[in-house]
Amino acid sequence: MALSGSQQVEEALAEAARQVKGAYSLVVLTEHAVVALRDPHGFRPLCLGRLGDGYVVASETCALDLVGAEFLREVEPGEMVTLDPHGLRSRRVLPAAEPLQHCVFEHIYFSRPDSVVFGETVDRVRRRLGQQLAREHPADADLVIAVPDSSNSIALGFSEESGLPYELGLIRNHYVGRTFIQPNQPGRDFGVRVKFNPVAEVLAGRRVAVVDDSIVRGTTSRKLVRLLRRAGATQVHFRVGSPPVTHPCFYGIDTPSRRELIGALKTVVEIREYLGVDSLGYLSLEGMLATEREPRRFCRACFTGQYPVAADPQARKLSLEESERVRVAGR
Ligand code: SF4
Repeated sequence: MALSGSQQVEEALAEAARQVKGAYSLVVLTEHAVVALRDPHGFRPLCLGRLGDGYVVASETCALDLVGAEFLREVEPGEMVTLDPHGLRSRRVLPAAEPLQHCVFEHIYFSRPDSVVFGETVDRVRRRLGQQLAREHPADADLVIAVPDSSNSIALGFSEESGLPYELGLIRNHYVGRTFIQPNQPGRDFGVRVKFNPVAEVLAGRRVAVVDDSIVRGTTSRKLVRLLRRAGATQVHFRVGSPPVTHPCFYGIDTPSRRELIGALKTVVEIREYLGVDSLGYLSLEGMLATEREPRRFCRACFTGQYPVAADPQARKLSLEESERVRVAGR
């Protein structure tokens, strides 16, 4: 608003949208309205619901369920929706990109399995990921367990396809956050220790296929493997429901730089050795995309390095925050 020639919030937002490139799903509360805006590539979800006589917006449909709202539709890529006392107004700020670039990681990891994201229930997509993973990398094991909770649906799919029984071998503590998003290594180390508890009764003397949605740095996975072995697992077969993450995300996800991504630094054989597992299998890129109804509409840059919207690989993600900190400190 400060830089825009317009005094209207919607006009200023539309003006900004025409200048900004990349991923955003915005919800702005003004004095008289709620304004929702989604980038033209549709990287992130944003959905619209009806609640009584009014409307609601949320990033995921599970939030609508929570308040008893009915899911109407997604805010379209490039669309601005205004909710005010007169009801709902929609305008197209930018044409939708062709093809769209939905974040495939929303289906793999970020979104909740009970949400409908990009037209599909997330649990359904994850089941297919697990089934495909079992076809590509079967495991000579007695049972399959998930790294809870984000991998539960993928592990269920793996179990369905392989015929291995699905067991609860790791219990997640729900009072700690995502470890890879913790800002520093000590925070992540502590996070792993308090986050997972192995169930010795399930694991002792068994050959375990453990399914995770992805491996980012590899440090969490390595600690998990040690936990499983300490709990008595005789073999650990690690299965990953996505390809190696080799590139950072420039579209709103705080993945580390290439220097920290184990998929960029080591081969699969070296990663297997680093994790200390009996076997390791990653889902192939083709296999992952085959689980989507319209694969061409999905961004997969963190697996390929082919960025659909130009990104500066030298850009430091926290540079804005850092310069602001310096500015505030220098006051
Ligand atoms: S780079 Fe990866 S995490 Fe980022 S939007 Fe694309 S698929 Fe999603």
